[in-house]
Amino acid sequence: MAGDRADVGIIGAGPIGLELAIALKKHGIDYLHFDAKQIGYTISWYAPQTRFFSSNERIAIAGVPLDVPDQNKATREQYLAYLRTVAKLFDLDVRTYEPVSGIDRVGGEFLLTTNARGGKRTYRVGKLVLATGGTDHPRKLNIPGEDLPHVSAYFQDPHEYFQRDLLIIGGKNSAVEAALRSHHAGACVTISYRREKLPEKSIKYWLMPEITHLIDAGRIAGHYATQPVAITPTHVTLRKLADGSTFDVRADFVLKLIGYEQDNTLLKLAGVKLLGDCGAPAYDDRTMETNVPGLYVAGTAVGGTQDKYTVFIENCHVHVDRIMAALTGAAPPPAPVPLARPES
Ligand code: NAP
Repeated sequence: MAGDRADVGIIGAGPIGLELAIALKKHGIDYLHFDAKQIGYTISWYAPQTRFFSSNERIAIAGVPLDVPDQNKATREQYLAYLRTVAKLFDLDVRTYEPVSGIDRVGGEFLLTTNARGGKRTYRVGKLVLATGGTDHPRKLNIPGEDLPHVSAYFQDPHEYFQRDLLIIGGKNSAVEAALRSHHAGACVTISYRREKLPEKSIKYWLMPEITHLIDAGRIAGHYATQPVAITPTHVTLRKLADGSTFDVRADFVLKLIGYEQDNTLLKLAGVKLLGDCGAPAYDDRTMETNVPGLYVAGTAVGGTQDKYTVFIENCHVHVDRIMAALTGAAPPPAPVPLARPES
């Protein structure tokens, strides 16, 4: 185990942070690795038995095959078990539940302050990699009732909604997947979506026919071109965007599946330049180094708050190769061929 100083610090222990840790270990570079929560935390809040959209070989890390018993795409549980196995296989030392709260420059190094269980701690690292992800906080509707206890931005076990009225807000993959699974679990599902129809190009081709059929058949209620304006313990008031009129829909549960925002506190603390509305960090795409010398970004953190998702685990593996090349003085790897069908 490293002490309080290392050549490299990694913040974030999602798949790409772990893959980088393994690469550093293989090269004999000492590092310190922190995560505010547990490894693979983002995946841990997926609903039970959620299957990845990405194929197993695209989300496998460090050359370790991700094999599952049923030749299907991995579930949340299978992938978390895989990450734990990989962490044990490479004897990774991740300081979990140790959030980094301060990043300062001291004498050409980074001084990291963490809030460990026992109190504040400090560490020094020569280089720093932020692999902190991009889906930290659910997007807000900013309407009355949004914080009521039956309103959630996280689709959990659909069993919760059996024979109850569930209103889902949103119209892309999370909303559609939750609607289908909850319908099959016996919930009475209504979708409120702000556009005239579901965005076929954004929804997985295997989900689209079923959701279209169920809405057309009236088995899932679809209120298109509507926006929620208030939530009460029993109802949601929807406004028709065409004429501004409102109507109420019964809802025992409300799922806001309208996307997530990045917490860019650490990027800002470190002085990283953020670009555009999505606040994506600026970086050199041959090395992943930001405008702050010695500070790199990796994984989905590079996408900032994504409105239209283009950065996934599966197209971030190259970040590890680029950072390793930059750290070891090797030539940067060639740019990967863009995936014809991302997330599949
Ligand atoms: P998303 O793609 O960002 O979709 C958000 C939805 O909410 C959109 O339909 C958007 O409307 C709507 N919306 C945003 N702000 C709103 C507001 N203020 N009021 C009302 N509606 C609003 O988010 P997502 O569906 O959660 O998907 C995120 C990523 O996770 C995607 O890459 C997706 O493919 C992936 N995903 C993976 C799985 C899986 O692996 N099993 C499952 C679900 C999702 P517009 O359409 O008008 O923009």
